[in-house]
Amino acid sequence: MKIESLRHLRGPNVYLSRPAVVARVRLEELAGVETSDVTGFAERLLRVLPGLAEHHCAAGAPGGFVSRLRGGTYFGHVTEHVCLELSQLIGRDVSFGRTVSAGEPGGYDLIIECPVDESPGSSVPCELLETAAGLVTAVVDGRPGELALDDLAARAEREAAGPSTRAIIAAARRRGIPVERYDDLSLLRLGWGNRRRLAWAAMTDQTSGVGIDIAGDKQVTRRVLTEAGVPMPAGGAARTLDEALRLLGELGGPVVVKPRHGRHGEHVALHLNTPDQVEQAFRAAGADVIVERELGGRDYRVLVVAGEVVAAAERIAAHVVGDGSRTVAELVEELNADPRRGTGHSRVLTRVEPVPSVLERQGYKGESVPAYGKKVWLCSTGNLSTGATSHDVTDLIHPEVSRLCLRVTALLGLDIAGIDLRLPGIDAPVPPAQSGTEAAAGVIEVNAVPGLRMHLAPVEGRPRDVGDAIVRAMFPAGSDGRIPTVAVTGTNGKTTVARITAHLLAGHGLRVGLTTTDDVRIDGRVIFRADATGPRSAQMVLGDPGVSAAVLETARGGLLNRGLGYDWSDVGVLTNITADHLGQDGLATVEDLAHVKALVAERVRDGGTLVLNADDPWVRTLIGRPRVRADRKRVVWFGLDAGQPVVVEHLARGGTAYLADDGWVLQATGARRTPLLRVAELPGAYGGAAPHVVANTLAAMAAARALGAGQDEVCRRVAEFDPAVANPGRGTLLRLGDVSVFVDYAHNPAALAATLRTVHRLWGPDRCVAALTLPGDRRDDLLAACAQVVADAVSRVVLYDDEDPRGRTPSEVSELVEREMRARRPKLTALRVSGFADAVVEALRLARPGDVVLVIYEKLAPVLALLEELGAVPAPPARP
Ligand code: ATP
Ligand code: MG
Ligand code: MG
Repeated sequence: MKIESLRHLRGPNVYLSRPAVVARVRLEELAGVETSDVTGFAERLLRVLPGLAEHHCAAGAPGGFVSRLRGGTYFGHVTEHVCLELSQLIGRDVSFGRTVSAGEPGGYDLIIECPVDESPGSSVPCELLETAAGLVTAVVDGRPGELALDDLAARAEREAAGPSTRAIIAAARRRGIPVERYDDLSLLRLGWGNRRRLAWAAMTDQTSGVGIDIAGDKQVTRRVLTEAGVPMPAGGAARTLDEALRLLGELGGPVVVKPRHGRHGEHVALHLNTPDQVEQAFRAAGADVIVERELGGRDYRVLVVAGEVVAAAERIAAHVVGDGSRTVAELVEELNADPRRGTGHSRVLTRVEPVPSVLERQGYKGESVPAYGKKVWLCSTGNLSTGATSHDVTDLIHPEVSRLCLRVTALLGLDIAGIDLRLPGIDAPVPPAQSGTEAAAGVIEVNAVPGLRMHLAPVEGRPRDVGDAIVRAMFPAGSDGRIPTVAVTGTNGKTTVARITAHLLAGHGLRVGLTTTDDVRIDGRVIFRADATGPRSAQMVLGDPGVSAAVLETARGGLLNRGLGYDWSDVGVLTNITADHLGQDGLATVEDLAHVKALVAERVRDGGTLVLNADDPWVRTLIGRPRVRADRKRVVWFGLDAGQPVVVEHLARGGTAYLADDGWVLQATGARRTPLLRVAELPGAYGGAAPHVVANTLAAMAAARALGAGQDEVCRRVAEFDPAVANPGRGTLLRLGDVSVFVDYAHNPAALAATLRTVHRLWGPDRCVAALTLPGDRRDDLLAACAQVVADAVSRVVLYDDEDPRGRTPSEVSELVEREMRARRPKLTALRVSGFADAVVEALRLARPGDVVLVIYEKLAPVLALLEELGAVPAPPARP
């Protein structure tokens, strides 16, 4: 068995509404073999992975998979379940899997769910699949060996979001706020466009940089707070040992020595009384330290978020309690065996590394056996990262303590802060600082970017949803952080509709982010050139704070191979669904295409709008698909045939449609008809000779109106749209001497038919010479269908091949097209040349005065440059 390829589907996809990977697996020696053909396979596998007994599979109940295993199932399916089980075993909680035939014998696609916050770049899914495939093969061969998953578990834990980040992600998701995590970092992007906010653990894009710097320097913090009258332990900064010893002399013991810029309790030494102890601590802390009076009392942490105390915890330093028989080392080992304890901040508690000097001071070593009931401190600091535990005391906090903490946070200019205090109890007020008297209780330090684990998962007391508090602070008043979003899909006209829609929304005062086949634009400016119709481009727009609405061309390739780049849109436009790309990526029929494109309709939010082409039979079927849930959405039809039964019924029920009827573009709602523009005025529609452009414009108008653009504004903006500039190469008309040149991007039968219909209407029969190329990645029968459409409409053609043959020999496509055209139209004049330049020149040579040369291109820019060089000029838009 071999894993041939693996791709990540980052958003909702045709299989699942969550991220997943798709692995193409070749069964090789196991092709055609079923589990029941291998004696003892099921038992051997269950011995290695007993958890498989719980898997449901098609039966929908635990044990479902085991009965399939015994009854006989193929090995792709087994690998899927093994992979899911291994995933569970390494603590990566996912449950959805599916295996489908990849079209060839022995080839399967395994679709396996991924955790929502796993980086699309993670190698964990791939390694899980490799391990699963290896294990299945080994079990077949009867040599199942040991399962070694430790490395993989460690990697998954390292890459997974930690508890604090997870809490913020979960809180945002509950509020419907879109969240994206940057790779395996704790950096999160919440919301879209100009509502987008960043959070990096407990730091937001509004956390003051000055505040962070103050909090990061314990001496500056001391100055700022003591000058403001906040009670703090007496003390000061020392850069030399002499200064440190002088402070000890002044203060008298016990003192605390800590690094001036330290964090996580590292190198903090408590209970120091002698110059020797201070010297040791001074050196350990890196010789730039704070020496301060050690306050008595308990360690508290108060979390302030956006002017509110949201949680308080008491922290108790790591310790063990003797049982009179085990050693300190053995007791520590037991403590660390707690599965809640991990390394660093990956789990809710941290493993303990006892500090030898702390043990020594109490008279212990690792091998000492403390008496029964004797408490042995392992570390002196109350930081969770040194193994301390936390106990929720939020309900006990005295209002005066709360006020003090809010004031401290404000003094540092922070929006989120964790205030460390040492107090006899948090349920009593802290006595105010008094001139000439040392504070006996007060604030020890302030943490910008405080850890959240102690509040999320205290060992005692109620967990506090501090992730929600942070999200609430970033998105007040119930905002979901979303911007208006339109997704456009279909076989033809996506780019055109997306561009017109963006143009209309810009007139509505929105700064539009637009993705199309050609580029990504923000507010009209190109920021990235690429075929930008997949999820990454969508994210580029949605992640841009300069954008207040998004229009996303969403094409089949991205949809199928990478998933959607968003979870829900407000508006989904389906232009049409006709034959193209069949035979690619496992799509055999137009129905398969409809299934893929339906995803855009499914992912329109409840209450959003479906803009659907009423003239297209496949688009009409979409509203009947259960997953589209058309009943929860507004449907707006558009079309050129006002008599379509689906439109008539829709209007009878009071619905809305955008139609072209009797020379007018109109909005119909119920029985009311509002004429909006004359068809003859529509830019790029050549007085109605290009009905497909009329349809595209109707779709765009419906989409813009669904997002609240006003009727007059939409009509005015439609009339202002200049396709020659804003949508070049989709029916662009030029004039060169006494011939016309019509440049178009048709590359499938429906698009060619639409364009040739326009040419026919404008110039009449047999006035067209076509310079034609077609993409080599299309199946032979699709190319043949294109050839027939062209042959039915033109008698003179110059064929050339794309620069990129897309897997064919260089002249294969033009030969095939010529053969098919000649079969259809024996009296054809056909030339085959190499390259677009020769094709254009030859086609111009074949043209007679008054004819039109139709140029179908692979890349637009060089074609337009050549035509300009030859002397072609833009023709007036309405008439040739
Ligand atoms: P692609 O799949 O290459 O991204 P697209 O769907 O974005 O294409 P456009 O770039 O808008 O489509 O138009 C490409 C060509 O498709 C046009 O030049 C025209 O020939 C044809 N076309 C556009 N709109 C329609 C339509 N509504 N119906 C049929 N053909 C159309
Ligand atoms: Mg296409
Ligand atoms: Mg396009």
